[in-house]
Formats: sequence, structure tokens, C-alpha cells
Amino acid sequence: MSIEELTALLGGWKGYTLGTVGRVEPGQHGPTLPEVHLELHPVRDHPRVCSGCGKTCRSIHDTAERWVDDLPIFDAMTRLLVHRVRVACPDCGPKVEKLDWLEPYARVTTRMARSVAQLCRVLPIKHVADYFGLNWKTVKKIDKAWLTRTLGPVDLDGVTKLAMDEFAIQKGHRYATVVIDPNCKRVLWVGRGRSREEVRPFFELLGPERCKRIVAVAMDMNAAYDLEVREHCPNAEVVYDLFHVVAKYGREVVDRVRVDEANKVKDDKPARKVIKGSRWLLLRNADNIEKEQDRIRLAELLKANRKLAAVYVLKDDLKELWFYRHVGYAKQFWDEWYGRAIRSRIDPLKRFAGKLKGYLPGILSHCRFPLNTSVLEGINNKIKVIKRMAYGYRDDAYFFLKIRQAFPGVGR
Ligand SMILES: [Zn+2]
Repeated sequence: MSIEELTALLGGWKGYTLGTVGRVEPGQHGPTLPEVHLELHPVRDHPRVCSGCGKTCRSIHDTAERWVDDLPIFDAMTRLLVHRVRVACPDCGPKVEKLDWLEPYARVTTRMARSVAQLCRVLPIKHVADYFGLNWKTVKKIDKAWLTRTLGPVDLDGVTKLAMDEFAIQKGHRYATVVIDPNCKRVLWVGRGRSREEVRPFFELLGPERCKRIVAVAMDMNAAYDLEVREHCPNAEVVYDLFHVVAKYGREVVDRVRVDEANKVKDDKPARKVIKGSRWLLLRNADNIEKEQDRIRLAELLKANRKLAAVYVLKDDLKELWFYRHVGYAKQFWDEWYGRAIRSRIDPLKRFAGKLKGYLPGILSHCRFPLNTSVLEGINNKIKVIKRMAYGYRDDAYFFLKIRQAFPGVGR
């Protein structure tokens, strides 16, 4: 078997053949991992394609040496010294040759880029860099280029519902907005900021015709998006979703009452500790508490503290509001809930109920547009994971691509 046949069999470098082969062992002045260096020469009389126009060209203009990394061979990193062809294209002039295994000006082969990008889906950049013996910046660049190429522009046709949410890029400082199609869990847009002006580019991208087809937009009550939605989407109803309302209840009612109650028993250290340490138990969905001992702890806490028990029960009941599909019954349920909250004599709860009342139309509109807002919760959690994996992205564009990658849509 000839070398050309062998490399073809192994899936190597179409149009090129092996020249010198060398090996460099790791050492003080050498690489950190063993490297195999392979020189690749163009095969004679192989048809070459111009990367400018895609036409097959007969003549080679010249070749230029380029170092390119390929996937590791056995125990060693693979570095290729490619004598890359520039064709003499009758239409484009001298132009680098189009290859399916190497993008023009790429520093790594296409299959290496694919592997790097695949690992970057599940591992922090640093781990991927260590694994391939590449530096951090190179890995990020490869992944970013791969995502840009594979994700392409977003298809906005056929979208009738939206869910919008904000998230922090850096702790409490800079914010960004994500817009998704809740029907198919697909990220449609990510942009810096959370103000009206800052989300306007999305609606401009959507355009007036597609904006008219939007019937419902789910969001947080606190968000500044509602006015912008009303301005661009004349047929859309704003829907306040369960996830955000319950999260707000957790912060403004449960947390507040818990801290107040803990302060009341300042001198009783064990009791104080139990109350202070109960945040997780109180905010968690009861169905998600797995350990028997945690369930007992929660039950005892609620038995011992009337106020905590009241806010806990009202939290669970509030969630039920989102299961109604009939506006009349939902309204009736709300009136009853509201009455209990107001009569509770628990100030944070009364304040919260009063505020929530102002948002009632947007809460009841979920009856007509029952958007699955667990999508918002899912995205929120996933963004946190992506952020942690990158140890704080400095590159927003890359961060946003990673978010799009995580929610490519189902059933498409
Ligand atoms: Zn050409």
C-alpha cells in the first residue's frame, strides 16, 4: 500500500501527501506534550478548487507553508506543515485553494475545530485547552468561529409567542436580555442591556409584519419590556409568568419574614439557627424535597412558626393561579387569595399582594395564553451554568452564541 492510499484510508488530508515525519519529545525547551510533525505536499494533478468562486482550476499559482494543528495521533499532538496551494484562478487571480478539511487561514483542521467545539459544549475552555495542548485564547476563538458558522442567522418566521428575560452578565453590573420562542424552546435573540431602547433592535429585526403576528409575550413584572412590546406588537398581550412572580414572592415575602422571625428569637440561638438555615427548604418546591429528614425539618419549622407557615401556604396556593384556564375562575381564586394575604397581618405579604394586584390583568392573561414558562426558568438556570463554565466571559458575543447553542429549539 502506498503512503497516499494509507493516508486516504485513515481519513487524512485530501489532495496532499506525506513528506517528512518527525517527532519532538517534551522537554525544557520543547513542547509540554510529545508532538508529531508531518509535512504535507500537494499531490500532483489533483483537481483544485478556488475558494473565491468555487470553480476547478488547472494551474497552481504557488504554495505557502502553514503550521496547522490536527487531532492527536496515538500519544502525541499532531502538527502539520502544510504547503498550502494557491490556485491561479482565471476569474479571481491567485486564490487559496478550497479544502474540506481546512478552512482558509484556519490554524487547526476542520475536524479538530469540530472536536474542540464539541468538548466546549460540556467543559470549561481551560479544560479543553489543556486536553488539546492549546492555549485558552485559541480554544475560545475556535469555538466562537465554529458556533458562528454552524448556528447561522436565526429564522424568525412563524413565531407567534415570545418570552423575554434579563440576566446579569457580571455580578449585578451589566445586564443582557434573551428572547425566546417558548413553543419550541429556541433562543431568537440575545442583546446587551435590559432597557426599552436596548431591546428595540430585536423588534426591528422582527419587522412590522412578523410583529403583528405576535399574540403573547411572557416576561417578569419588573421588566421594562412591556411598553416596548405594546409599541411594536399591536396584537400581543403581556403575560406575567409564574416563575418570576414566585421568585419575587420568595425574595420579598419569604426571605423578609424569615429574617424578621429569626431576629425575634435572637437570644434563643438554636431556634434562630433553624430559621436562618431554612431558606432553601422554604423556597423549594415541596415535591422536590427528597430527603425524609428535610421534610420533617420543614414540617416542624412550619408547626413552630405561624407566620412562616402562613407565607409558605400562600406561596403554594399562589402557584395554583397559573393552572386555571378560565379567566372567571382564576379571578375568583385570586380574590380569595388576595383576601387571605391582606388579612394575614404580615406586612411584607400585604405589601406584595397590593403590588401584585396592579399586575392582575397580565397574570390572568395566561389563561388565554398558557405559555410554558418553565422554559424561562430553564434558560435562567442554564445561563448560570454557561457563565460558571467560562469563569466569567469577557466576550459578550461569544457568551451569547453559547446561549443560542444551548437552546437551538426542539422539533425543528
Ligand atoms: Zn476563483
